[in-house]
Amino acid sequence: MLQPERTIRSTCPYCGVGCQVDLLIKDDHIFRVEAPFDVAPNYGRLCAKGRFGMDYVTHPSRLTRPLIRKDIGEKPRQPIDIDGFREASWEEALELAAEKIAEIIKQVGGNAIGSFCSAKATNEDNYIFQKFIRGVVGTNNVDHCARLCHAASVAGLQIAIGSSAMSNSIAEMKDLDVFIITGSNTSETHPVISTFMREAVVNGGAKLIVVDPRGIEMTEFASLWLRQTPGTDVAVFKAMAQVIVAEELYNPAFISERTEGFDEYAASIMEWTPEWAESISGVPADMIRQAARMYATANAASIYWGMGISQSVHGTDNTLSLANLALLTGHIGRPGTGLNPLRGQNNVQGCSDSGGLPNVFPGYQRVDDPEIRAKFEADWGVALNPEVGLTTMEMVDAADSGAIRGYYVMGENPMMSEPDLRHARHVIEQLDFILVQDIFLNETGEYADIILPATSFAEKDGTFTNSDRRVQQIRTALPAPGEARHDWVITSQLARRVEEKLGRSKSAGFEFEHPEEIWDEMARLTPPFQGIGYKRLDREGGVHWPCPAPDHPGTPYLFEESFPRGKGQFSSIDFRSSEELPDENYPYILSTGRVLYHWHGGTMTRRSQLDHIYPEATVEINPDDARQLGVQEHTRVRVRSRRGQIEVKVLVTERSPQGTIFIPFHFAEAAANELTNDARDPQAKIPDFKFCAVAVDPV
Ligand code: SF4
Repeated sequence: MLQPERTIRSTCPYCGVGCQVDLLIKDDHIFRVEAPFDVAPNYGRLCAKGRFGMDYVTHPSRLTRPLIRKDIGEKPRQPIDIDGFREASWEEALELAAEKIAEIIKQVGGNAIGSFCSAKATNEDNYIFQKFIRGVVGTNNVDHCARLCHAASVAGLQIAIGSSAMSNSIAEMKDLDVFIITGSNTSETHPVISTFMREAVVNGGAKLIVVDPRGIEMTEFASLWLRQTPGTDVAVFKAMAQVIVAEELYNPAFISERTEGFDEYAASIMEWTPEWAESISGVPADMIRQAARMYATANAASIYWGMGISQSVHGTDNTLSLANLALLTGHIGRPGTGLNPLRGQNNVQGCSDSGGLPNVFPGYQRVDDPEIRAKFEADWGVALNPEVGLTTMEMVDAADSGAIRGYYVMGENPMMSEPDLRHARHVIEQLDFILVQDIFLNETGEYADIILPATSFAEKDGTFTNSDRRVQQIRTALPAPGEARHDWVITSQLARRVEEKLGRSKSAGFEFEHPEEIWDEMARLTPPFQGIGYKRLDREGGVHWPCPAPDHPGTPYLFEESFPRGKGQFSSIDFRSSEELPDENYPYILSTGRVLYHWHGGTMTRRSQLDHIYPEATVEINPDDARQLGVQEHTRVRVRSRRGQIEVKVLVTERSPQGTIFIPFHFAEAAANELTNDARDPQAKIPDFKFCAVAVDPV
């Protein structure tokens, strides 16, 4: 058997479970991945991506030298492949990038730069990125893909309890009593978490309620499966709340001590009976009653959700409906109770925690709070912009209107992840300058003026924060390919050059030797991180924030005594139908999402051996619909919406309800976002990736 030259403990770079991995290295290749049996959060478990999906890091198409577009300056810019770029030295590429950014700042101000930081990069990379954008460029226009996955969870939870973090740890899952999974195909999107949930049902006798239009695998373990018509989640959860109030199954002590607005809320829901919800959602009224009773009468009950709830024009209302259930029953603030948005990317929690959002510094400290701003100004030694910046979608709008002139994109791929890609392409073509920093040339890089090659998770030190707020380390296992540099190094070097070009006499501070020093600066400015440091992480393997002091044990579950907003707030919500309903020209509902073997825009998994297992885009079609369309398994169809069209291979399956099709969004050659609608949730500004009207034609 092949023996490793070295074994390096690290954190899986794919999903928010944050599995701990041992990378077995020989000849500078990861030849096997193992999971330590005694370490949280995965205790020896890994999914296909963690086990077999790491070979992308040594893929021959890794970027190894800085690249400059040969036709730089020509407009409208066209997407180009690698031959459209020329190699450059770091000196030339950084100098030119700094010149272009400084030129835009001098001409029209920092607010004309839009920037995307990365839920795949480390906390330290993201801290430096937002420090550059805020402290040097002078804008708060910094955002990342959380906007496109869980912004509605964030908005709803902020209103209800004042915190958007997952309230419970993964370790509590095996002891669940009753739990709801909604809008999450957990066994494919968070596979290791799904094993703990299955264990809770099979070994622990827990009762599972699945609320989902798709026949996902977790329905096989469910006591109840409420299969609602897509887009009618609010009706189902509202009716569950109505049952809890009408049958007095609520928790009066919790309501009086820990919540506000109950009387008004209770009065507002009395007419929204299970029969009303059945007429809208198709879920039998009796089943809604059973679900409400099961959840309300449990000793401990928890709710887990994914992008099926948040990626919707009523994503905030969906989240508020779930929060209402927890506040009614007091199923929050104890082990095994709570509100748990399952975060997608490996470090989407950490990217937000580190200030990768347009309204907050690290630790969710508001940029428009003068006291907070003064603290950061004193530490960084520069004046900071008090205006809240633009979200990803608002940056696209601002670029469309000419208010934004340049993009700086680190480790994101908006040209795959934005809805309505035809429009996104039109916008990006008009920009004056695009700087991309990444490990591969992806669909966004094809539009860049300059591409700076970065290191992957396996080539650097740093921290990721997983879905349950556990800060964990990644460690250098392999040398950087070619001349690639760490993201925090690149951004720091760029920052110093931009400062020079702007004639700044004082730097905001980018002289770091190691990411540990960056973490220490962030922790110094961020109270919930102050008890966490690299030495402690080395010793303990991971710590859950909030952890305000070195002797604090960390916080596996939140809200034991109070909510960040004080009392939990009930919200009365109206049911609204979806934005673009099917009609005779576009008779099917399209929903999009992930499959087990791929990840997001496919930048990593499509360059791994996982691509051999799932090599092309598919569309799931219900057998009745397939019969009506005259299509069979593995034939090809053209799927059209009002915005674009793609060709995909058919999978005939009962997983999709009649009238709804499902397409994964990992495949650039058949990008699901050619079809999706950019209609947005009014509060969270998140687009509706789960519902638009399409037509299906046999090819
Ligand atoms: Fe990686 Fe997520 Fe799979 Fe764990 S469950 S191995 S973190 S992709």
